[in-house]
Amino acid sequence: MEVGFGTADITPEKGEPTSLFIEHPLEEAVTPLLLKVCYLRDEEQATVIVTLDTTSLYTQVIEDLCRTIAGATGIPHSCIIVQSTHTHSSPFLHPAAQEVLGRRGVRFLSSTYYARVLQGAEEAAREALRTLSIVDVFYSSGMAKQVASNRRVRLADGSIEVRWSRGVSDELRSSPEGIIDPVVSCIWFKNSLGQIMGSLIHYACHATTYNNYLKAHWDFPGYAASEVEHQLGGTCMFLQGCAGNISPGKYTVGEPQEDCLRMAHEIAIAALDSYPTAQRLGVQSLSLVSGEVSTTLRILPNIDELNRLLDQEVAKYQEALSAGKSFDNNDFMSIAARLVLLERYPDKNMPSKVFVLGVGELPLVFLPGEIFIETSLQLQFEFPDTRPIVMAYTDASLEYVPIASAFAEQGGYETSEDWCFSVPGNAEVLTAYAAELIRKGMS
Ligand SMILES: [Zn+2]
Repeated sequence: MEVGFGTADITPEKGEPTSLFIEHPLEEAVTPLLLKVCYLRDEEQATVIVTLDTTSLYTQVIEDLCRTIAGATGIPHSCIIVQSTHTHSSPFLHPAAQEVLGRRGVRFLSSTYYARVLQGAEEAAREALRTLSIVDVFYSSGMAKQVASNRRVRLADGSIEVRWSRGVSDELRSSPEGIIDPVVSCIWFKNSLGQIMGSLIHYACHATTYNNYLKAHWDFPGYAASEVEHQLGGTCMFLQGCAGNISPGKYTVGEPQEDCLRMAHEIAIAALDSYPTAQRLGVQSLSLVSGEVSTTLRILPNIDELNRLLDQEVAKYQEALSAGKSFDNNDFMSIAARLVLLERYPDKNMPSKVFVLGVGELPLVFLPGEIFIETSLQLQFEFPDTRPIVMAYTDASLEYVPIASAFAEQGGYETSEDWCFSVPGNAEVLTAYAAELIRKGMS
């Protein structure tokens, strides 16, 4: 098998629009934001994995990235997997929502920045192609402590309260960690001299430890990857897991930067300590199966009401702007995202793409949306021998994809109409489909 890596800097410039909010020009880039490309191939299969330090990715930006990378590498569009680390301290790359808001004179995404991201993808893809080397693949895993916690905390009356990422109350902080997956899974690529050409490390937790909408910050995933690179060499790519209901909130006890470095170190150490015991995979080849499954959108309220609400929000924003006041509200981003989906899928049936990349005997599952950790645990339970590694955050159009039982609970954020465009049952549809692809691809 051969692997090559490429990295591009996609840090916005000072003053460029950033984040989910409007009118938030970037004040400072605390760290770079990166786009990384991992190009894998054997005699029969070539695949590219792309990760971006950005909040979320949507259909249009994924199509633009795939077209760019396909052009640069000759790899078919269908073999390119694009994922975001979900760091919230970054520009919001949603060109279709920008179009909806642009019709109302509101801008949150710079076209210069967008073009720079695509150019970065092209450069990183070319670098990955150029650096392809023959490797052996190894796997190891470790455990990270005191990073992830479940953010749906059940109160005494049975209702759910959100344990956000920062500024958590003592009551919520002292509540149990809840269901998480503490495992850091690592895939190591070594050349014939035993040198590490690159690695993939996987962990599931919202990258919102830093969580500052006026700064660019790669959050703990960026620092964890950089520590692994520094210690062992090669390019390390962080793959975000099913963190829909997982936040760092229980353990953000210090300053944002301090918390970020501590959590990153915890994940990096879990990876680095496991490295000496890494097992060479018995099968050294690649397989890729993918397909689309029908998922159903839940868009509330109706289209006329959404347009009315959007006009109202935009008027409030313009009023604040002319009065020289700040406007700390991102409601219209959610409304614009819903209008995009209704324009594209008026019957509310949206195809969702799932990939299963077999690296040796290891299935790497890539799911769309913000998936709950239970989905990942369910797939691990169903395939105890193949140890599937489950990623989310490819196309985020569905936004939160809670498991069906979460919809029956009172309270919580992930099932609210603002950022959950998914009906109860979609998580189970995606789980069953991923299981089918694992059986097909890994047999
Ligand atoms: Zn999220």
